Amino acid sequence: MSLVLWNKSLFSAVSSLELRTSLSSSSRSTPFEQNSSFCSLTMDNERKTKKKKERQLPEKKTALPLEEEDIEDLFSEKEVKKIRQSLLQWYDKNQRELPWRERSESDKEEEKEKRAYGVWVSEVMLQQTRVQTVIDYYNRWMTKWPTIHHLAKASLEEVNEMWAGLGYYRRARFLLEGAKMIVAEGDGFPNTVSDLRKVPGIGNYTAGAIASIAFKEVVPVVDGNVIRVLARLKAISANPKDTSTVKNFWKLATQLVDSCRPGDFNQSLMELGAVICTPLNPNCTSCPVSDKCQAYSMSKCDNSVLVTSYPMKVLKARQRHDVSAACVVEILGGNDESERTQPDGVFILVKRRDEGLLAGLWEFPSIILDGETDITTRREAAECFLKKSFNLDPRNNCSIILREDVGEFVHIFSHIRLKVHVELLVLRIKGGIDKWVEKQDKGTLSWKCVDGGTLASMGLTSGVRKVYTMVQKFKQKRLDFCGLWEIKKQGSRVDRKSES
Ligand code: SF4
Repeated sequence: MSLVLWNKSLFSAVSSLELRTSLSSSSRSTPFEQNSSFCSLTMDNERKTKKKKERQLPEKKTALPLEEEDIEDLFSEKEVKKIRQSLLQWYDKNQRELPWRERSESDKEEEKEKRAYGVWVSEVMLQQTRVQTVIDYYNRWMTKWPTIHHLAKASLEEVNEMWAGLGYYRRARFLLEGAKMIVAEGDGFPNTVSDLRKVPGIGNYTAGAIASIAFKEVVPVVDGNVIRVLARLKAISANPKDTSTVKNFWKLATQLVDSCRPGDFNQSLMELGAVICTPLNPNCTSCPVSDKCQAYSMSKCDNSVLVTSYPMKVLKARQRHDVSAACVVEILGGNDESERTQPDGVFILVKRRDEGLLAGLWEFPSIILDGETDITTRREAAECFLKKSFNLDPRNNCSIILREDVGEFVHIFSHIRLKVHVELLVLRIKGGIDKWVEKQDKGTLSWKCVDGGTLASMGLTSGVRKVYTMVQKFKQKRLDFCGLWEIKKQGSRVDRKSES
């Protein structure tokens, strides 16, 4: 049993809510999907129009019903009616035109599935990414894979390339795995929350969005925007990340969802949070539900009450600080040190492990360092890695044409602050590249050599793209300053070409 305090103002009564529920376990991708759950009311709304065979995945635990509710913590019937009406009217007039909102009036199953696929792709892309950024990605994605059947035939490499720059690559992998699973089962697109939840990567939020928008199942959605709007409407200042508080947001959203237009209603609530009830500057005077908003009402009576203090701000967990060395290894063609060749060779790219951060993506050879280190230590670590992984040994089978520290930058992941030291290492291999490649032990490390043109057109992560851009700029500066590259027989220097 847990007790949640809903602090409504300095001088308002503090009411308590007794919760006798357990939360669902979830391994889905967003914080909300990991922590939230539908109450059994939601599950009771399963569509019964299309009987599907039982899927093989184990059932997820779902929340137990609330046995007792404090009626004061819910909206009154009158409020529910008014909020639904006001929000839908506002949404009909003001909704943004977004490609995933295009709909067909056809009731054909095929059209609904197409819509469901579009909603799924857009919702996954929209997690942690701005709408304006997503539009472009979404359009390119739908051009390449217009239906779930097209996506199911794609490779992970293609999907990662298309996703490059959006971050959270695990989500792209789940989209692909989910598409393959749905197509392989041959039962059509799952059309209820409970069936959708069995698809890899689909949590409560995404399931609710797809089921309500594409299949009109009367189920709610709760994302960051919805939490903010509900917290302000009910002046809930409890920690929005607490499982018991999240549970209550689901309960309130379930109460509000419109039974005739569930998808539109859910989108209207999210849209309100995105464009009117924003985190820092809510536009309360233009808000269609301001007359039902407790935070706004209190703020009008007491200047010390700010609507933006709802919900409570939660401090982010401290980021881990990592330091890494990225060594951009460029191998020049030819096998004679004195031979003049074109300045651009091929670059070594390494595939990351299939698990963990940026799983299965390509990067330049990189090593995580033991904290901040000097350049000598970084170079030693890089040499050791190159020798062990690719049998590249400047004292033995290759010569260093150029070795320069190019700079450093900080790359932020959700939970890691990664400082990357970038080094350019230009080599020529004795006996030529082809012989060296032939001799490589295939081992467990997956890697390849690509030329600059291929590299530029590959879908690289933004971190890898930053490294490559730094190297390109550095090389350009050298060229501007030194003229053409001049490879000296003995040297590891690039000298200025004689102007004469
Ligand atoms: S009145 Fe203001 S705080 Fe309340 S829901 Fe509307 S925009 Fe948000």
